[in-house]
Amino acid sequence: MHRIRFIRGQRRELYPPGYRCVTRITRWGNPYKVADYGREEAVRLFRAMLERMTPDELRAYLAPLRGATCLACSCKADELCHADVLIEYLEGDTVTYDFAAFCAQADAQAAELLAELDALCKGIDESLYNVCTNPLVLENDSEEVSDDDDSE
Ligand SMILES: [Zn+2]
Repeated sequence: MHRIRFIRGQRRELYPPGYRCVTRITRWGNPYKVADYGREEAVRLFRAMLERMTPDELRAYLAPLRGATCLACSCKADELCHADVLIEYLEGDTVTYDFAAFCAQADAQAAELLAELDALCKGIDESLYNVCTNPLVLENDSEEVSDDDDSE
């Protein structure tokens, strides 16, 4: 992801497809003005603001920017800009990506699908279902299967 220059009054069509505006009129704008703090300090304060957010807040804050091709700010290309901090966060997924939550969701979906499949199989024919789920019991009279047939 890269940064492009937002020019007030320029027609939307002149920006690259998939851009997102992050100037001060948006919620991703830098509340710390360059005029008040100086450029370096303003960008530093913006970064500190992101660092103070909880992982959930940060995820919610950045979510609408995900998938953007580039971020547009009114700063010039060679100027330090808060949008670069946003890009850094968006590209550094470790900060905002909740892997555990993703796994939990994937597990839940898998379990749901398996349960559905299970129900479908049972519906076909109870005896056929037993063949499918307990091949060892039927093929090989029990050595590899433990004493209790009802166990999983
Ligand atoms: Zn900027």
